[in-house]
Amino acid sequence: MDISSSMFRPAGRIEDLGVSEILTITARAAALKREGRPVIILGAGEPDFDTPDHIKEAAVAAIRQGQTKYTVLDGSPEMKRAIRDKFRRENGLDFAANEVTAGAGAKQILYNAMMASLNEDDEVIVPTPCWTTYFDIVRIAGGVPVAVPCDDSTGFRLTAEALEAAITPRTRWLMLNSPSNPTGSAYGEEDYRPLIEVLHRHPHVWLMVDDMYEHITYDGFRFVTPAALDERLRDRCLTINGVSKAYAMTGWRLGYAGGPADLISAMAVVQSQSTSCPSSVTQAAAIAALDGPQDFLADRAASFAARRDLVVDALNAIDGITCRKPEGAFYTFASCEGLIGSTTTEGVRLDSDRDFCAWLLDAANVAVVPGACFGLPGCFRISYATSEAELGEALGRISDVCRALRRN
Ligand code: PMP
Repeated sequence: MDISSSMFRPAGRIEDLGVSEILTITARAAALKREGRPVIILGAGEPDFDTPDHIKEAAVAAIRQGQTKYTVLDGSPEMKRAIRDKFRRENGLDFAANEVTAGAGAKQILYNAMMASLNEDDEVIVPTPCWTTYFDIVRIAGGVPVAVPCDDSTGFRLTAEALEAAITPRTRWLMLNSPSNPTGSAYGEEDYRPLIEVLHRHPHVWLMVDDMYEHITYDGFRFVTPAALDERLRDRCLTINGVSKAYAMTGWRLGYAGGPADLISAMAVVQSQSTSCPSSVTQAAAIAALDGPQDFLADRAASFAARRDLVVDALNAIDGITCRKPEGAFYTFASCEGLIGSTTTEGVRLDSDRDFCAWLLDAANVAVVPGACFGLPGCFRISYATSEAELGEALGRISDVCRALRRN
């Protein structure tokens, strides 16, 4: 009998991909916590707030009213109306009903868009550090992610020169995310304008923007989305958003987008053969989120701002660590370059950001994510979506163990 024929072999398209390293690190930290270790997890990209009551109530009411069946493929008429209203009200973008779509999270929207548009070896420009999902979705869709490294000298933002240099005849998309996971840096109008000019010189390149953290910005930062800045982009820009981060609805799974009708209908084809429609109950909740009161968003952003200040100040006070103050999202992306090459009290040398993060978990019981996971080694990401008390304790521990390192 041929034993090998019964062994599972993954498809080529996912052979080199693994489950997100962020999830693996978080799972390991959670397992240690279950064993009784006092682990503080600053790994997950999830608000610690609960979903507001008026949103939960809308879902309960939908269940009671029997809204428990399939809806229109890429969002019920009410869902699409709420999405269109949101884009008009908050972004000044006017989309027709056939120019918006809803799926099971912004992640599915991204997946639909890449699957619907990429041919083998088409290139997608992704400024790094970035949310690693962009790379893997592009690969699953048969495309080639093209990393354009950015560092804190430009606030981790892509410059017009770097964009121009990365464009080839095979470039299909430029992918931008503002405010950014993992750096928290955001593009203002003056940052977008030069990039848009480059795109006008290369009409074959489309723009995909991920605005997931739109409502989490600080210090009066003025959020803008590129499609609203230049009418000419409207024919080749997909604007992606979702309810996960703004409304603390990560588990509900609803993301949405607005863009050219042909692209939106191609995305519906992909969704029709994967998940069909997003959950009917979730759509009722998301409509309540988008239509309902928005004033609590500013209160939440204010409490995230206080946490950001606490984390950034504490990190910058540690010899060997430097951290830029982010404009938004709930992440800091600090350099630990100054500590690479140090030796721990146990005599172990820390040769990389991965070593540094593994050691922090062992020595300080704090879980953070290495910058290498996002395409920039020598750094680490902290998610500060947790209480100030817990953040204070975690940063105190990080500071204590780093002080005990033997520097070269
Ligand atoms: N975009 C970014 C930048 C994110 O960080 C995340 C979640 N980590 C998503 C999209 C996915 O959001 P959703 O829950 O809507 O799939």
